[in-house]
Amino acid sequence: MNTKLKVAVLGTGIMGAAMARNLLRAGHEVSVWNRDAAKTEPLASDGARRAANPAEAVEAADVVLTMLYDAAAVEEVIQAAAPGIRPGTAWVQSTTVGVQDVPVLAKLAAGLGLDLVEAPVSGTRAPAEAGQLLVLAAAPEAVRPRVAPVLDAIGARTIWTGDDPSKGSAARLKLVVNSWVIAASNAAGEVVGLAEALGVDPQQFLSVLDGGGLDLPYLRTKMGLIMDGGLEPASFAVDTARKDAHLIVDAAAEQGLKLDGAEAYAARLDRAAEQGRTKQDMAAAYYASR
Ligand code: NAP
Repeated sequence: MNTKLKVAVLGTGIMGAAMARNLLRAGHEVSVWNRDAAKTEPLASDGARRAANPAEAVEAADVVLTMLYDAAAVEEVIQAAAPGIRPGTAWVQSTTVGVQDVPVLAKLAAGLGLDLVEAPVSGTRAPAEAGQLLVLAAAPEAVRPRVAPVLDAIGARTIWTGDDPSKGSAARLKLVVNSWVIAASNAAGEVVGLAEALGVDPQQFLSVLDGGGLDLPYLRTKMGLIMDGGLEPASFAVDTARKDAHLIVDAAAEQGLKLDGAEAYAARLDRAAEQGRTKQDMAAAYYASR
């Protein structure tokens, strides 16, 4: 579909900036706002309109896209955008939030007349920059065509999880996916730490896995970041991963489920943050062993 839309992107961090760029490449008119305004500067040279505040960013928008840290930031920013919002605007909410946060955001959307589309994404900095994210979405059938050009610009594929965006079906899938992603990243850090402590060459460990069922490209990527000093700039920062780790632990606890591994990786990410590694890639949890 080649409909050109006016899209307001609120939050231009690692993921939001990449998404804004792909919307511009697809020919949409994009306005951008970020709390730290310096982060929208490079987007202006790609053709984005820089807004002074969220309300200015969303004026005349067909679609509002939020890609912020957490649900509290989303609430705060959408409240600030409220004076500029036209009822009937579609709201693509891509920030990773908790299952319990979704009905709160749905209520906020209903109060402002926004048509909410739950749309967390799977994929990190590189797929975001390439427009190859997987969008995990929920929205009524009638709303989907209005946001399809936006989802097509940011992602390779959209997986529809439901038609009621207040139920959190996309958030649930996103947390399940992230439980695997964070566990795998954490395992990579622990493998390097254990190998080093036991005097085992990590490359020899990899040669044992070579080409077998346990050989995971993601494991090699994360081990590489640790061993080659590539933790900055982050693809998925410690601070963001620890927020998601706690969302996973909480979502499980709400169902009466105890996830020992998730609790452990949440604690490791907390320790990495205390070590001042918040902006480093989450593979920096490697350092939390000592
Ligand atoms: P990021 O680079 O740290 O960006 C976070 C954004 O949130 C920044 O624009 C930041 O503004 C803004 N923000 C934080 N608190 C705010 C507040 N109180 N008010 C206004 N703005 C606030 O993180 P990211 O990696 O792009 O992640 C963004 C979202 O995508 C998160 O929910 C994350 O879980 C999710 N996600 C990330 C990845 C990944 O691999 N990185 C993948 C999938 C989903 P400032 O620039 O002013 O701090």
